[in-house]
Amino acid sequence: MKRLVLQIILRLGRYAVLPVVALACTILASWLMIMDRYTIAALATAPIVFTIFMAAMALAIGLLFLPSRKHRSFEADEETAPGLWAVWKELDRSFVRSNRTLLVDTDFNASISETSRYAGLFGQHVTMTVGLPLLMILDQRAVRAVIAHEVAHARLRHTSGGTNLADFMTAAENVFFYADPEQTVTGYIVRILLHSLLERLEKEYRALSRENELAADLEAAEQVGRGEMARALVMVEVFGTRLIDLIFAPLQKEVLGAIKAPSPPFARISDQIATIRAPGPMTAASLGREHDPDSTHPPLGQRLASLGYTDISDVGEIQASAIDQLLSPNAANELALRFDEEWRKKVQDWVSVGR
Ligand SMILES: [Zn+2]
Repeated sequence: MKRLVLQIILRLGRYAVLPVVALACTILASWLMIMDRYTIAALATAPIVFTIFMAAMALAIGLLFLPSRKHRSFEADEETAPGLWAVWKELDRSFVRSNRTLLVDTDFNASISETSRYAGLFGQHVTMTVGLPLLMILDQRAVRAVIAHEVAHARLRHTSGGTNLADFMTAAENVFFYADPEQTVTGYIVRILLHSLLERLEKEYRALSRENELAADLEAAEQVGRGEMARALVMVEVFGTRLIDLIFAPLQKEVLGAIKAPSPPFARISDQIATIRAPGPMTAASLGREHDPDSTHPPLGQRLASLGYTDISDVGEIQASAIDQLLSPNAANELALRFDEEWRKKVQDWVSVGR
């Protein structure tokens, strides 16, 4: 039953609240009809019926005025990212150029999402986002495995769910803009109901995401080989940890105490790239690390085990950074500068507000 509710929301996104609204309207209509015959009963239940109805209306309004999500990333065409496009085309059996968008953002991560336009009449539009740090730090073999993993998510149709769930949650939270839980009874009741629903949804969604990750790893391994997939997972884990330790954790500290914006992230990554990519013991440390229980990804050990490995002590030679092979020479530099500039502006605003 819980899975069913989750599946409906993953399919319908914010429109999943429509059945709730319809139900509330039906309750109100029936209540109006019994009004003449059972006046006393009708009056006694009036507060309950009106609360349900108002809550449903608040949900409907919250749904209608959902703010659109803006993404701060860069759209890369074939000229900017010839290598990335080529890898995508090679790995994606249902590749249709007009139905594909490639974005580059600032995360050490990659993701894929899917939207159906015109009710899916012309196929699904797939958007893949690849983080610039991923391209700088991994080698081409590892990026290829990561892309195979993302393409597998799309092929296995894991893709639209996350967006839809996020939509639904935002729509649900919008309700409180119209029915303040501190001020109105409706808002108060809706908060109690939604709170437990959202909490359960998040838990279910986490479990589902983890299953999906393992399935995508296996599907990708069919294309690039289990060894390559495992190697990429280990590299992402180890380099990701170094990236946090060497770049993002110190940066965060500096920003907190800064009077002017400190040197920006991509400049730092370039400076320390050799240390971040240095070969060294790979899994022992990362397998032992504590895993975030709220993560939508399973722990590395579990992912490796599902591919048939207990430990990867050696990822082989770490080849040249993928960025030179996957992006055009100018694009690599320009993107890093552009992201750093955006970051500097944001932090500068923030630092001057703080003073
Ligand atoms: Zn994934």
